[in-house]
Amino acid sequence: MKKETTTLTTEKEYYTAAIVMARCTNRKLSFGIRWESSKPKRWVANWTFVIKESSATREGYDKVKIKGRFKLDEAYPGCPHCGATSIGTCRCGKSCCWNGQNEEIICPWCGKEIYVSGWGWGGGSLFGGSDR
Ligand SMILES: [Zn+2]
Ligand SMILES: [Zn+2]
Repeated sequence: MKKETTTLTTEKEYYTAAIVMARCTNRKLSFGIRWESSKPKRWVANWTFVIKESSATREGYDKVKIKGRFKLDEAYPGCPHCGATSIGTCRCGKSCCWNGQNEEIICPWCGKEIYVSGWGWGGGSLFGGSDR
């Protein structure tokens, strides 16, 4: 009984939506990815929009970290700068756009090569801010 109460409290505290900052791999410009959570620790990306990094910092989008498993929604609109239809994440913890074909891309944040191999409830963590 006590354990159930604890679980409930934890579930109430999860973010229902979060914005994660990303950069366009081709044009090095920033954009935001909106992640929505229907269940705790299950995140679905369903929107992207152009945002300046200075505004993102002011909104706190670079501070909160979301954890769990990540997936792209069927309606995911792609990168607003170059139209790339997928997302890659780097070991530096940042996200970038990915065209879903090349297997190695250069991270537009840290300049290192990232190996990306597709999507479907991949585990990990992303940095972002809550979208209240
Ligand atoms: Zn792009
Ligand atoms: Zn990186």
